[in-house]
Amino acid sequence: MPNLENCPRCGGLFIKALRSICDKCHKEVDQMFQTVYTFIRKRDNRKASLQEVVEATGVKEEYIFQFIREGRLQLAEFPNLGYPCDSCGKLIREGKLCTSCFSNLKKDLEQHHKEQEIAERHQKKEHSTRMTYHLFNDDLRKK
Ligand SMILES: [Zn+2]
Ligand SMILES: [Zn+2]
Repeated sequence: MPNLENCPRCGGLFIKALRSICDKCHKEVDQMFQTVYTFIRKRDNRKASLQEVVEATGVKEEYIFQFIREGRLQLAEFPNLGYPCDSCGKLIREGKLCTSCFSNLKKDLEQHHKEQEIAERHQKKEHSTRMTYHLFNDDLRKK
């Protein structure tokens, strides 16, 4: 059975195989990539900013981000391009988060860790008091 699905880009039905979008859309996106790539490959344009690329090619930045994420546009060759931080949207060139979001995340994690440790210590304490209580009761019963 062919896997019929609606294309997430144009909504048309298509047979889902290797691609997540339909052939027509794939061709359109490919065309956009070619436009962007032809522009940015020129020596004079390599240092273009994202905004300049969008203006010059008419291709929306979300597609440019997609090309970067897919590795079709290599950031090493284009010093002024980037993609948005997963958390705040600031342009970054590696990883998933910008440096400030990354350090916030780290702080959050450390905080979480500390809270967990405290909670665990509390649990242990409760556990040990309960244990002595039981022992105590057992002693009484034995007597
Ligand atoms: Zn489509
Ligand atoms: Zn960020």
